[in-house]
Amino acid sequence: AFAMRLDKFVSSQRNDISRSMVRELCRKGQVTVNGKVAKAADAKVSENDIVAVKGVEICYKKFVYIMMNKPQGVVCSTRDGESKTVLELVPSEMFREGLFPAGRLDKDTEGFVLLTDDGALAHRMLSPKTHVPKTYFVRLRDPWQENYVQAFAEGMTIDGGEKCLPAEFSASVNCPDECTVVLHEGKYHQVKRMFEKLGNKVVFLKRIKIGEMPLDPDLPLGSCLEIMHKDVERLL
Ligand code: URA
Repeated sequence: AFAMRLDKFVSSQRNDISRSMVRELCRKGQVTVNGKVAKAADAKVSENDIVAVKGVEICYKKFVYIMMNKPQGVVCSTRDGESKTVLELVPSEMFREGLFPAGRLDKDTEGFVLLTDDGALAHRMLSPKTHVPKTYFVRLRDPWQENYVQAFAEGMTIDGGEKCLPAEFSASVNCPDECTVVLHEGKYHQVKRMFEKLGNKVVFLKRIKIGEMPLDPDLPLGSCLEIMHKDVERLL
């Protein structure tokens, strides 16, 4: 439940309308609350009120969840001196204050990045206790070997002595240099370091699934899709 000023409510839900614009729209009679023209931008509204701007209803959303197909060359940090960040790729109509990437991919890794302003969900997803499975498509320098399945399943010790949780390796049927890997944690450069340990090298990496939610195969690189609230539990 919430009660907040009309100008704050509208600007929090619509990235293209600032608070001062709401005040101006109110003066012009272009904002309605429950069908009545609202002249006072400081009036209190709650989630039971139907607010509309120029006849377009504002659907209240507490949080947003965005699926991005990250291209190579873009970083997941929120600020970077030189490289483009994932936040800069979010279209303005989806953007909100407080949006951040829940989990990171390397600069040269492609694929599914979740962006949200729901701190509790991000915390659950990133917690080492949750073990949300993440699925990666991998192309290798050298053909995969028969022993990889077992090596991943047993839980590898990678450079520096870090012990990995059991993971799943599946070879591609047609391509000797392609495979998919499912991890239940996210150590720094983990997929690359696991294949290094096996004497191989990752030459292309793409995250294709988080939890039970696959990356939409029709989503172009660099594009975003809003995840419906009813689907959010599939991320865990
Ligand atoms: N493993 C890696 O090595 N890099 C990523 O970006 C994700 C998983």
